[in-house]
Amino acid sequence: MNLAQLLIESAERRPDAPALAAGTDVVASYGEHASRSARLAAGLRTELGLRHGDIVALAMGNCTSYSEILFAAWHAGCAVLPMNARLHPREFAWILENAGAAALFVDSALADDLAAIGDEAPALRHSIHCGSASHRSLFEGPEMLPEEAGADDLAWLFYTSGTTGRPKGAMLSHRNLRAMTAAYFANVDGIGPDDCIIHAAPMSHGSGLYLLPHVARGACQVIPESGGFDPEECLVLIGHWPGATFFLAPTMLTRLIRVPGIERLDLGNLKTIVYGGAPMYREDVLRALGILGPRLVQIYGQGEAPMTITALSREDHVNDGHPRHDARLSSVGRAQAGVEVRVVDERGSDASTGEIGEVAVRGEVVMGGYFRNAEATADSLRDGWLHTGDMGALDEDGFLTLKDRSKDLIISGGSNIYPREVEEVLLRHDGVLEASVVGERHADWGERVVAFIVPKPESPVREAELDQLCLDHIARFKRPRAYRFLTELPKNNYGKILKTELRALLD
Ligand code: AMP
Repeated sequence: MNLAQLLIESAERRPDAPALAAGTDVVASYGEHASRSARLAAGLRTELGLRHGDIVALAMGNCTSYSEILFAAWHAGCAVLPMNARLHPREFAWILENAGAAALFVDSALADDLAAIGDEAPALRHSIHCGSASHRSLFEGPEMLPEEAGADDLAWLFYTSGTTGRPKGAMLSHRNLRAMTAAYFANVDGIGPDDCIIHAAPMSHGSGLYLLPHVARGACQVIPESGGFDPEECLVLIGHWPGATFFLAPTMLTRLIRVPGIERLDLGNLKTIVYGGAPMYREDVLRALGILGPRLVQIYGQGEAPMTITALSREDHVNDGHPRHDARLSSVGRAQAGVEVRVVDERGSDASTGEIGEVAVRGEVVMGGYFRNAEATADSLRDGWLHTGDMGALDEDGFLTLKDRSKDLIISGGSNIYPREVEEVLLRHDGVLEASVVGERHADWGERVVAFIVPKPESPVREAELDQLCLDHIARFKRPRAYRFLTELPKNNYGKILKTELRALLD
């Protein structure tokens, strides 16, 4: 069934309920959102001549048009390609060409950057500048009926963030995203019709995917005026909007809880913060729980199994009487509904409890493959299982602890060192704001451990103290042999630390 139905059905149930808001102002009811998307869908088909299955790309920051375009494209039988608004023009060009996108919606901030891209993406027939007369004219005709979409038709082409190599387009079908929506309700959170999602994180990624369960329930989507993540603005919006949910990258969550005076604010409107997409360290989880209370849910997913591999529930976060509570807080929780999770060794056999191997996933949420990339598809989808490239271990209760991407593993003197374990220890130091550990080539040991440390402002951190902390908590061979101090860590738009850039600093 077409995902467009989610909006249509919510509009039928509650046409006057707020659907889209800019800051604190409601700009469209569900009736209006559905009607505008149905008219835009007609415009895409008749004015632009798009056909069933064509790809509609978005190069836009968060805005109220985002949801309108997504639902219009689905309504018209097309698929969407939301792109990270911070990409370089060359990266946009590469993705548009690789996907063979037929139409592109671009906002004014990116219009200049993308003006010359047409030549590099020959399939691109239309570039529509958001808010322009040509954009407005697409709404002028009557609404069209939604196109039929098969469960396995492409709905969302999700390009991986490409922290290594070229990004790959994970093909997500209507079925995959329905399965993600169902798992949200089963494992992440309930949503009431008077709740809302505040899109402070990019809508091209997790926050945008999570608009689906919210639209399914007829909840409002709130777009911050800044179009992105501004911690102070988030707090203002929390003060205004009851039943608020955010999806945040861990680095955003840790910035939010550092806003001076946050402890004194009334956070009664804040319902849930779902975090994920990158490691969240135990110390940071504890700090966030102390400030925000039982409002945290963690998810682990990847573009290839969107938002839906495991979840660490709200209850698991606060169940501090449990003997393994500490270990659970460093885990990513248990398999979400409809998803099977295994940890496998190099031969593809199940690793034993506690043993580290590659995380493999099966279920309705798993992508059909990578767009026009049979080789990468065959490499990651084997015997019906998605091989995630993430290393982890399952405990006896099915809680998964992620170690690191296999490529981030450090092998020193023949021993495996998981950077995450070392980072967790370094973060125990009061003066450490952020820590990231990588391997540096070494003539004798193969690699040696190097830690990049961002100290808190005005907090001197001495190497000897960090070394002692490591000696107190982990095996000697795992401790960093060199420290580098930085004022910030390189991160991509989704808050993921770019270890490739850190390694490059060592060359
Ligand atoms: P992307 O496809 O861009 O969403 O990136 C997915 C990758 O982010 C996963 O394969 C993991 O390496 C990482 N990731 C996602 N969620 C988590 C999490 N909760 N904890 C640690 N790493 C995560």
